[in-house]
Amino acid sequence: MSPLLSVRDLSVRFTVHRSRSRRRVAAVTGASFDLAPGECLALVGESGCGKSVLASALLGLLPANATTTGNALLAPAPPAGDERALTADGTALENGRGLPTGPGDGPNLPTGADAGAGSGSSLPTDADTGAGSGPGLLTGVGAGAGSGPGLPTGADAGAGLEGGLDLLSAGERVLASRVRGRLVGLIPQSPAGHLTPVRTIRSQLAETIRELTGVSKADLGGAVLAAAERAAFPADHLDLHPHELSGGLAQRAATALALVGGAPLLLADEPTTGLDRDLVDRTVAELRGHVGTGRTLLMITHDLAAAEQIADRVAVMYAGRIVELTDAASFFGSPGPRHPYARRLLDALPTRAFAPIPGMPPELDALPSGCAFAPRCAAATPVCTTDLPLLENGVACHHPHTPIPHPGTDIPRLSDHPEFPADPAEPASEHPEKNDALHS
Ligand code: SF4
Repeated sequence: MSPLLSVRDLSVRFTVHRSRSRRRVAAVTGASFDLAPGECLALVGESGCGKSVLASALLGLLPANATTTGNALLAPAPPAGDERALTADGTALENGRGLPTGPGDGPNLPTGADAGAGSGSSLPTDADTGAGSGPGLLTGVGAGAGSGPGLPTGADAGAGLEGGLDLLSAGERVLASRVRGRLVGLIPQSPAGHLTPVRTIRSQLAETIRELTGVSKADLGGAVLAAAERAAFPADHLDLHPHELSGGLAQRAATALALVGGAPLLLADEPTTGLDRDLVDRTVAELRGHVGTGRTLLMITHDLAAAEQIADRVAVMYAGRIVELTDAASFFGSPGPRHPYARRLLDALPTRAFAPIPGMPPELDALPSGCAFAPRCAAATPVCTTDLPLLENGVACHHPHTPIPHPGTDIPRLSDHPEFPADPAEPASEHPEKNDALHS
């Protein structure tokens, strides 16, 4: 099946001037993945690892001090047999997806003016104008640079996406009039920042529905109620302004707005933040239903419990790189993650070992030449500190976890090597008794 979205070698750099110094922040490096119609990919990792920056890059919502390279080809046509957008109540409209409806977005669709919102709060942003200043070219196939083995490279990158739209080189006009809300929906990380503060939620929903679906005036009131219901936004709160909403309600309002256009690709950036468990389950069910209609979901989250409920595949990011890309069933079940960081992420869950990952992620403007996880990794060896592990067969690690140990393949620990004496801040051991000592 041809992918709906084919991302190749996506990198984002921020240039930050402070006093007389100039820093280059490597927020995302060499991200490559495909998204098939009807698939959910969960992008997981600690805060500040680059997840939200990646999503913002796909929508041209990065600030002016960002530089983006690579390709992100979006299929030129909707999945087979689905040429129409859906209204809020699920009925189809003929004037839907992919048809430009004029230069303006609805007021609630992120535009260049919103650039930077939700794009990685830990990253400094010097400006609030949009990136995406490219020519807005519709590009051909295979433009993406290849990445590591296990992913389509070179000639087959973007196969099936002839004539697709390269989201990274598309200009602001194309993104605003054709992409945001219509081809790619966004549930933002900071919903309050994306809602218009001086208008009620009802008004914002009505305008977005009218703009994206063309529903008649007579049906607009019912469509607003249906859109609110889909996101579990209470009807008796529709006439409130954003500042009158709790964080959870603002999240639900943003979700309702994002689902209106029936975009074939939905980017959900921490969609369960601020919700209690019941609403998390309901939101997950709604998003899962969205995927069930053949649409595609890129869910960015550190809520691994939610990711487990919804994802078909999981991509783990660390220090701006995808370090593991695998099926959700094997990731959350057996044999489990192969990358040591991914294993630690799961072990940190209260429902599992509840063992925090020792140490801190590296600064993105001072990344080491080898594996960025090495200072925190109990399996690190000298080669880890010198050679960057590339993503091969779904994992970027010199010593990925193997479920069945083979005799004679024990690897030396970094602390065993004479050039790398044990660090006082030695990461937690794989041995439970040592972890107990570290965390007591
Ligand atoms: S074993 Fe080495 S390459 Fe793998 S995560 Fe640990 S430090 Fe990185």
